[in-house]
Amino acid sequence: MATTTANSSMLGTSGATFAPLTVPKRLLLGPGPSNSHPSVLNALSQQPVGHLDPFYIQLMAEVQGLLRDVWQTSNRLTLPMSGTGSAAMEATIANVVEPGDTFLVAIKGYFGNRLADMASRYKANVQTIDKKWGEAFSLQELEEAIIKYKPAFLALVHAETSTGVCQPMEGIGDLCRKHNCLLILDTVTSLGSIPLYLDDWKVDLAYSCSQKGLSCPPGLGPFTMNERAEEKLNKRTGKVPNWYLDVSLLNKYWGSDRVYHHTAPVNMNFGIREALRLILEEGLEATWTRHKLNALELWNGLEDLGLSLHVPSDIRLPTLTTVSIPSNVDGKAFSLHLLNNHGVEIGGGLGELAGKVWRIGLMGYNSNKTNVDKILNLFDSELPKFKS
Ligand SMILES: *Cc1c(COP(=O)(O)O)cnc(C)c1O
Repeated sequence: MATTTANSSMLGTSGATFAPLTVPKRLLLGPGPSNSHPSVLNALSQQPVGHLDPFYIQLMAEVQGLLRDVWQTSNRLTLPMSGTGSAAMEATIANVVEPGDTFLVAIKGYFGNRLADMASRYKANVQTIDKKWGEAFSLQELEEAIIKYKPAFLALVHAETSTGVCQPMEGIGDLCRKHNCLLILDTVTSLGSIPLYLDDWKVDLAYSCSQKGLSCPPGLGPFTMNERAEEKLNKRTGKVPNWYLDVSLLNKYWGSDRVYHHTAPVNMNFGIREALRLILEEGLEATWTRHKLNALELWNGLEDLGLSLHVPSDIRLPTLTTVSIPSNVDGKAFSLHLLNNHGVEIGGGLGELAGKVWRIGLMGYNSNKTNVDKILNLFDSELPKFKS
């Protein structure tokens, strides 16, 4: 089958030849991935070590400790799932949800819908409450729904990347404890970039990803669960219906036993260790402040250009800004122009907001003044060309 060619270029079955890979330089100011920190890229490019090498075992413990610090939790079961944020999202559901459990999702955007879809696949009794895309839930609305549905779980998205809304968390954890319900929180676009206090907020299960606030490429999904959630897992009558994401198996690898489960993506773990270390080196509070100040500058600059922001300022998310597309502008043509002619990626709207907003991300390494100036200058100089 294999043919040897004298030519050094690779010959595919189609006869096409392939040049060595070159990737265009992009500034990723969309909803994710965002650009990786150069020292994270350096960590990723090291030779792998064995996934049971003593060096790696030590590194795993460090990654777990760093994740606890950045999440502000003391949860024993804290580890990065091998997979993206959605894998970690699925892990929160797969491990604790049993068929028939009432699973309440407070939906205010695209990712709330994904949570409801996933929970339904694990045969939960899914109930939902909905908000317009661009709004957040009040504590009273959540309490009314909890009283009505008496759920075993309340699932919420902290930072809704599809709308640019940050859900205020005050009182929600206490509400869930009072009504004996476990709180699942999506922290994909908040971890490492905006204030997040998992234990103080009494969050029972949470997940995130490597490619948004953490300045790492996509590939890992940080996951954590507290003792209340562990108790639910331990009381299950059947096996966790997902082998790959089963925390009771994974814990034998990430815990003290170090039993092989799957070959860990070791280089991704080199990368996330460096990414988390950089956040703590800068300081969590300093990181949060940087994101807030750069976002404020972006918001003011966009408004100075006469643009309006989709989300009211009190619930606006520093990591992801939704900008209303003026009615006389072809929004898609403008973002394609930025990508093709300026190497800058911004996002378009999803679902209810498709065609109505642009989404500008300032996450992790990308949250800096140079990038804010760059995108504001591009809106200033290029947008007029797209007005009809
Ligand atoms: C990106 C995102 C996800 C999904 O993460 P992937 O890494 O794309 O699988 C989930 N929730 C929110 C809020 C997100 O922004």
